[in-house]
Amino acid sequence: MKKILLSLGGVLALLVAIVVARTLLHTPEAQGNAERVVIDLDEGAIAGRLAEAVRFRTVSHQSPADFDSAEFRGFVDWVASRYPALTASAERTLLGDYTMLYRLPGSDPSLQPVLLTAHYDVVPVIPGTESDWQAPPFAGEIRDGIIWGRGTLDDKSAVVAQLEAITALLKTGFRPERTLYLSFGHDEEVGGVDGAAAVARHLADQDIRLAWSLDEGSFVFDGMLPGVEPLFAAINVAEKGSVTLDIVAHAAGGHSSMPPRQTAVGILAEAITRLEDNPVPGGLTGLSGQMFDTASRYMPFGYRMLFANRWLFNHMIETQLSNVPFANAMLRTTTAPTMLSGSVKTNVLPIEAVATVNFRVHPRDTVEDVIRHVRSVVENDSVSVRVPDGGGLAASEVSDWNSPGFRVVEQALRQTYGDLVVTPGLMIAGSDSRHYGKVADNAFRFNPMTVTPDDLTGFHGTNEKISVENLARGVRTYMQIIRLGTGS
Ligand SMILES: [Zn+2]
Repeated sequence: MKKILLSLGGVLALLVAIVVARTLLHTPEAQGNAERVVIDLDEGAIAGRLAEAVRFRTVSHQSPADFDSAEFRGFVDWVASRYPALTASAERTLLGDYTMLYRLPGSDPSLQPVLLTAHYDVVPVIPGTESDWQAPPFAGEIRDGIIWGRGTLDDKSAVVAQLEAITALLKTGFRPERTLYLSFGHDEEVGGVDGAAAVARHLADQDIRLAWSLDEGSFVFDGMLPGVEPLFAAINVAEKGSVTLDIVAHAAGGHSSMPPRQTAVGILAEAITRLEDNPVPGGLTGLSGQMFDTASRYMPFGYRMLFANRWLFNHMIETQLSNVPFANAMLRTTTAPTMLSGSVKTNVLPIEAVATVNFRVHPRDTVEDVIRHVRSVVENDSVSVRVPDGGGLAASEVSDWNSPGFRVVEQALRQTYGDLVVTPGLMIAGSDSRHYGKVADNAFRFNPMTVTPDDLTGFHGTNEKISVENLARGVRTYMQIIRLGTGS
């Protein structure tokens, strides 16, 4: 007995030793370094031009009837007159009337072009929340080093920063070796069908294949990941797809004074509960595995121990991450019941109760995989699944994070920010890159400005703002991206 206990103790001690040793080895990997590049800019003037951009109410509404063409036309004209150096050096094509595609020809036509892009349409301010803003959303106020207003994060700051970057370069006599495209979309918030999709077709029609594109996406995270001290830049290399399914419960109907034990509504409720209890399988693999592996190396000992010993703790880690909405969205296709309908009258039993469920498709799954999973979970004699016309949108391809375009963005960030952690990431929302990505060997989604947890409510919400300093860092990074990316 004593022998058994001794050897059991020995095994335990060995296990602890392995776990601790692996934890101690799970430290930050050498990040590339780059010499800081100092660029002198008139930050106040740049901020003033973003403020002007904010004053155009270029709002994308759900209903096309609400489209205010004068505001969009005004913005297109403002860009042309405010940035004369670009107007003089580049040829401009308007697509869908309001999306601006600028082409700056490179000196070496044999090189594949690159594309920088951002969108200038914004989402509406929810009626009734205007007074919650510390500065009016379309006034373009600058106060104490902060520019306030709709679009200052998503995504007019990127439009203006790209315009400022190319202008600053052109003023120093810059000429790209590689052709540079700049595209400023007008309908990203409603799918980019008339803007980005038309740009992609326009390029494809001319047999132009981009080496890479850079669109909005993730940001430089400042204090966003628990325990991670350094600035953390997850450059998104893929974006999720989307499919919306109707879950339909069937029943006999009749008068509500004489209901069966369970109506269509009750049957539907059970089906939805089953669906929520059986999420689409996911896991800490591929892109998500890579991102969490990098981030965890900067975390406190406890977290590091778990991630360093995934052979032992993987199940626990995945369970924990699945309980955090943001992390769960990185691991799997998500399930979100959003709309319900039943009977048309209070005293009529429904013959059909319908739940609309939106799934955001992870690159690990196809749309068909998701539909198959949902059918296997909910379908029976009284429940069926309706697939919409068109079938849904697949996740994007995963771009290569060892390719030159990724390295350019990474290097430009290091030159601007100094020490920061760079890793590939996954975009859990959609962007115009679902279109641009079709004509690019690699499509990256990243804004080179910082965001803090405090900024998050600004995206599509209230009190959207950016600091003058943060905007200027974006301009500097884009300047380096253009320099490095076009080979000059
Ligand atoms: Zn956006």
